Amino acid sequence: MAKIAIIGGGVIGSSIAYYLALAGQAADVVVIEPDPTYEFAATPRATGGIRQLFTVPENIRMAQYGHEIYGQFEMLMAVDGDPAPIDFHREGYLWLGSGRRDIDSLIGNWRIQTAHDARVELLDRKGVKHRFPSMRVDDIDIAAFSRNSRKARADAADAAYQPQCQL
Ligand SMILES: Cc1cc2nc3c(=O)[nH]c(=O)nc-3n(C[C@H](O)[C@H](O)[C@H](O)COP(=O)(O)OP(=O)(O)OC[C@H]3O[C@@H](n4cnc5c(N)ncnc54)[C@H](O)[C@@H]3O)c2cc1C
Repeated sequence: MAKIAIIGGGVIGSSIAYYLALAGQAADVVVIEPDPTYEFAATPRATGGIRQLFTVPENIRMAQYGHEIYGQFEMLMAVDGDPAPIDFHREGYLWLGSGRRDIDSLIGNWRIQTAHDARVELLDRKGVKHRFPSMRVDDIDIAAFSRNSRKARADAADAAYQPQCQL
């Protein structure tokens, strides 16, 4: 009989089950998910952005770990050599700010981010226009740009975890 019940089989529940299975606990885990269509779940609605623009060191480290894992995910989750595509690609992540408060806040955040090896660039209005010529920038005073942030399909990642957890 299972010793560990995970309530909900969204991407978080499924990934916890995966890591428990990797740790040799597969026989002890059951994931309880009442809705196979995931109608009300957040996972299939997610944009799938994997960014590093966080302000708490633990979140930055978790995002860096996510980046590393999702970078190898298609092969890591392959079943019988068939990769598990999640449409993982680099798009970058741009955070915009206006006014003194945003300027101070983004500079403070940038200090924390770069101190934890997140690759984030601060841009002024001219820098934003130069980098993104199609943007209207007259109300932009500062921006934080993380060039190596990625995007992936969260629903595909969730689906890929599941066969890995089965005995
Ligand atoms: C519009 C949108 C955009 C987002 N964009 C991003 C993004 O770009 N990047 C990012 O990192 N995150 C993003 N997120 C957040 C991300 O989607 C969630 O953090 C993540 O999907 C949460 O996963 P979860 O497994 O905890 O929850 P869910 O995916 O909501 O799964 C919870 C599961 O629990 C089940 N459940 C609920 N109650 C019970 C119960 N009592 N018993 C059994 N099962 C139950 C539900 O059926 C559901 O399947 C976004 C979210 C939304 C809505």
